[in-house]
Amino acid sequence: MDEPSRGPVRLVLFGAPGVGKGTQAQGLQKWFGAPHVSTGDMLRAAIREGTPLGKQARAVVERGELVPDALVSALVAERLAQPDVREGFILDGYPRTVRQADDLDAALKGRGSAVDVVVNLEVPPAEIVERLAGRRSCPACGAVYHVRLKPPKAADLCDACGGRLTQRLDDAPDVVQGRLRVYEAQTAPVLEHYRSRGLLVDVDGRGTPDEVAARIVEAVERRR
Ligand code: AMP
Repeated sequence: MDEPSRGPVRLVLFGAPGVGKGTQAQGLQKWFGAPHVSTGDMLRAAIREGTPLGKQARAVVERGELVPDALVSALVAERLAQPDVREGFILDGYPRTVRQADDLDAALKGRGSAVDVVVNLEVPPAEIVERLAGRRSCPACGAVYHVRLKPPKAADLCDACGGRLTQRLDDAPDVVQGRLRVYEAQTAPVLEHYRSRGLLVDVDGRGTPDEVAARIVEAVERRR
């Protein structure tokens, strides 16, 4: 699956933390002819680099709470103004509140475009907790692994770039419980925003990354 399909798509990958949005977005970029845009990755980069935004966001991200809508929406609007995402993008981790969904609609409308389809990845809560507890990532290149489901070839080292893998601070078990509560309270209501506009499609997020990718492709292609 590495040929662009039927032209770029403006896709939102939606779902609770740990359902596989980042993994799927990375793998599907070529197929959909659309770059992966992850607000979590952008915020972590800002924190690492110590930018003013990173300084504002750091404590909030580490606690597993949401960064204020205005900050995140400004970051996304700036990213969506770049030429590589004019025809298509795969948004991961945004929008996370109804306010952000409205901001996204407005930002795209200003450029004469709109979201084409929203894929809601569904994974049972017990499996989400296991996925997050075992998740490891490469701070250098962003590649994501799992100690049991997708181990690196050499323990704790990134297959792609050799970087030392780390566990995200917000994947600690007590923070994960809080993130899942934040999802239910603030993010799940976004589903209705898209369902009422006929843009939402539910996709089973269980199984191997390839199995899930095939379901996403089928669901998106059926809708356009
Ligand atoms: P993620 O990598 O998508 O799990 O995001 C990691 C963390 O970054 C979240 O727990 C939030 O603290 C912050 N974050 C990412 N995206 C957003 C967003 N759209 N709105 C608010 N905070 C966000």
